[in-house]
Amino acid sequence: MTDATHEVFNQPEPLVDYDLFETNRPLRDALRLNAPQLDTAPLARLGRLAGTSEMQAHARLANTHAPELRTHDRFGRRIDEVEFHPSYHALMAAAVEAGLHGSAWADNHGNAHVLRAAGFMLFTELEPSILCPISMTYAVTPALRGNDAVFRDWAPGLTSRSYDPALRRWSDKAGVTMGMGMTEKQGGSDVRANTTRAEPDGRDDWGERYRITGHKWFFSAPMCDAFLVLAQTPSGLSCLFLPRVLPDGSRNGIAIQRLKDKLGNKANASSEVEFRGATAWLVGEEGRGVPQILEMGTMTRLDCALGTSGLMRQALSIALHHTTQRCAFGQRLVEQPLMRNVLADLALESEASTALSLRLARAFDRRGDAREATMARLLTPIAKFWICKRGSHFAQEAMECLGGNGYVEENGEGIMARIYREMPLNSIWEGAGNIMALDLLRALRKADAAAALADELSPARGAHAALDRMASALPARVEQMATEVEARRLAQDVALAVQAALLHQSAPPAVFSAFCDSRLGGDWGQAFGTLSARCDFDTILQRALPYPA
Ligand SMILES: Cc1cc2nc3c(=O)[nH]c(=O)nc-3n(C[C@H](O)[C@H](O)[C@H](O)COP(=O)(O)OP(=O)(O)OC[C@H]3O[C@@H](n4cnc5c(N)ncnc54)[C@H](O)[C@@H]3O)c2cc1C
Repeated sequence: MTDATHEVFNQPEPLVDYDLFETNRPLRDALRLNAPQLDTAPLARLGRLAGTSEMQAHARLANTHAPELRTHDRFGRRIDEVEFHPSYHALMAAAVEAGLHGSAWADNHGNAHVLRAAGFMLFTELEPSILCPISMTYAVTPALRGNDAVFRDWAPGLTSRSYDPALRRWSDKAGVTMGMGMTEKQGGSDVRANTTRAEPDGRDDWGERYRITGHKWFFSAPMCDAFLVLAQTPSGLSCLFLPRVLPDGSRNGIAIQRLKDKLGNKANASSEVEFRGATAWLVGEEGRGVPQILEMGTMTRLDCALGTSGLMRQALSIALHHTTQRCAFGQRLVEQPLMRNVLADLALESEASTALSLRLARAFDRRGDAREATMARLLTPIAKFWICKRGSHFAQEAMECLGGNGYVEENGEGIMARIYREMPLNSIWEGAGNIMALDLLRALRKADAAAALADELSPARGAHAALDRMASALPARVEQMATEVEARRLAQDVALAVQAALLHQSAPPAVFSAFCDSRLGGDWGQAFGTLSARCDFDTILQRALPYPA
């Protein structure tokens, strides 16, 4: 292609029209470990769809045409509606059709959560911000079971594969979505500071009814059909079910004040709201709202780990694709020794995050098993803390592999910029880093936590000296763990040890040993690209390339 003054050359082709599942060997190998019997046909379909130029265009358009709030109609009546670009709805419809919202709760097979987790990671590579309402809709089921009557009425809509954005009564809709409202201006991590009040208002088919007055400072996806919210009842902080349209068809008293002007996550609307005598129903026990809504929070924390792992994979794929085509100093970038070190280091991080995320999803498939329930409790804060912490650093380094092109938005086509802006969100929302590390301390106080952890690491015993050293020190550290001040260090070390043990089972020896040498053995620097020259870069990079084997 020539321009008026020069020929355009040495600029890579975009990564488009490729199969995200087929070309993701680390994901497929992690699936073989965690769900060997899984029928991966749905993932193959989703992987092809998510890589198409048509879906990529939807992702770009949904992010460049941000949602707009319409508080009133032209006659001055409140409507509190959020308008989205048609591409947003196309993405939502695709995610719901793939069952990434509530379907795992209805699927009658033992690997439903692992299947959904892998699909969630693939879809994140296409567009992460629309996955906010999808994730909350997935997450709500365990908590919503705390009100049988509401759950019975709403479960079919929550698991339906039809996306229906209309603002109507739940019973007139083909499918519904749900969100959550905990954070208030004066406290997000410490929700005990919530001041929103819920006054008893009688009883009906959905149980104890309340009138809610107050606000929420962060209220994402306000066009969801209903929300679980925290409010102070006479017995203390309680969890309440708050539909946007009431059973008689009238609108509930939820006023959207404004939409947040966010760093990233542009396609998704996050709002500030006021509840003006809104009608809600009790979920679980009055005064036990925090543990009740945390049943939902736990599932969204899983999704924070999955989402970050998906974004890492996407950033790595783009970096590999770019450096495979771009030449500098007479050689393709991917052939330059120092760039190979950077790319291989990123590949190790991405594969370890994928492995840990799917391992956690497996624990949710087997929660009936006591040991797996302990692992779900233990690995949720670990994965949320560590994977999300690594995300921003990872995105910056992957962006740098593209040089200046990585930093450019270019009408939303600069996907690296989108990834970079999205990354910190998973670390902040639903329990920021410190809150996760402190939650790990609580999880470790369970009697069988140290034993479960030792068991988890046992398949890799004797495989690497650094992992053996870490594994033998951890039980004592876990048992003596008392001081908050070291909570992040402990969370990091447990995460690394579990990741290493998983890689031993799902990745080639070159990946496992490079991961252990660097992350556990200290043969590493403080930036990506500081692996030892002894690593098998060929094997690590060949495995990571986003191309068919
Ligand atoms: C885009 C976006 C969407 C969101 N959507 C929703 C939503 O839909 N619903 C909802 O309820 N919330 C939502 N949130 C809010 C989010 O969950 C909170 O911002 C988060 O939980 C932190 O609360 P905070 O902002 O009040 O910060 P704070 O609680 O003030 O925390 C500030 C910092 O202090 C740290 N910290 C707190 N306590 C301790 C401690 N004891 N020791 C050490 N460090 C501590 C935290 O880790 C954090 O780093 C959203 C946030 C964002 C950015």
